[in-house]
Amino acid sequence: MSTSESNILNGADSLAIDTAVRALKSDLLVAIPTETVYGLAARASSPKAVKKIFTIKGRPTEHPLILHIAKTQDLTLWSSDLPRAAHALAEKYWPGPLTLVVRRNNKVCDEITGGRDTVAIRCPSHPITTELLIRLDDAIVAPSANRFGKVSPTSARHVAEDFGDEVIVILDGGECSIGVESTIVDCTTNPPQILRAGAITAEQIEIDCGITVASASGESRASGMLEKHYAPNCIVELASSRKDAEIRLANLKSVGRIAEIIDFGADLEMYAHELYSCLRDADKRLVDVVIAVKPAMTGIGIAINERLNKASNSASGD
Ligand code: AMP
Ligand code: MG
Repeated sequence: MSTSESNILNGADSLAIDTAVRALKSDLLVAIPTETVYGLAARASSPKAVKKIFTIKGRPTEHPLILHIAKTQDLTLWSSDLPRAAHALAEKYWPGPLTLVVRRNNKVCDEITGGRDTVAIRCPSHPITTELLIRLDDAIVAPSANRFGKVSPTSARHVAEDFGDEVIVILDGGECSIGVESTIVDCTTNPPQILRAGAITAEQIEIDCGITVASASGESRASGMLEKHYAPNCIVELASSRKDAEIRLANLKSVGRIAEIIDFGADLEMYAHELYSCLRDADKRLVDVVIAVKPAMTGIGIAINERLNKASNSASGD
């Protein structure tokens, strides 16, 4: 782990965005703020730069990357045979925390998709990253800016802790407003399927767009669907209620373990906002066990439960 923070630049400074654009044009990687989590970005039109992401993250090349675009209309630049549902979802939720899996066109290199004929595309809403994309005049690919399988970063400091010396520019755009990764909807199936839960839920899509989306089924296509992911070093135990968490805490303390509770009550947005920060912070303080009170399975609570299940799963994954 590196503690260097000298490469964190204030993203509100126009010159910092220029520096990031120059780095991307030179096929270097840049960490960027988004409303979900921080991303580790490479220029999408440079296979050489895209490959660097897999190396630096330790990410298997068969795990495809999400392509990030400046504006909704750019969807058609990178895709083909778009179904009506993809247009409708992009119109409704972009810019925002929704990724669409669609058929790719030949502008998308194999390095991005792991050779698949589909590509995952998102239009993020963070103004600094939008400005970066406009000035770059290209798309970027950006997985979360953490080592593969580990907890995603929700601040520039988190990125510096993981990649301080290896990423030349970390654009600081403050804390991510949402705090968990985007909802991924596969639009190549009928009905479309949710591959990863996020801030935008199936229920919301049904209400807003009248589109029914199914839960993921079949072979795992999203890395977020691996059984163990988003994992801190500490053990994560799940508690069904605050009371359950307190009993577990007392038991752990009685045998000398360092343990603590994560619980944000009914405030699901705050839970999502703070979750990764809490897990990273617990690791820093060498906490043995974090006991997370499971939030309600509604709204963004579905995504939080999904991440907690993966963080707590001790089966080997990645
Ligand atoms: P992250 O690992 O946070 O970068 O999230 C990227 C997610 O998008 C992963 O779960 C990928 O597997 C998923 N993804 C990217 N491209 C595709 C694709 N063509 N088909 C299905 N899932 C994809
Ligand atoms: Mg990730």
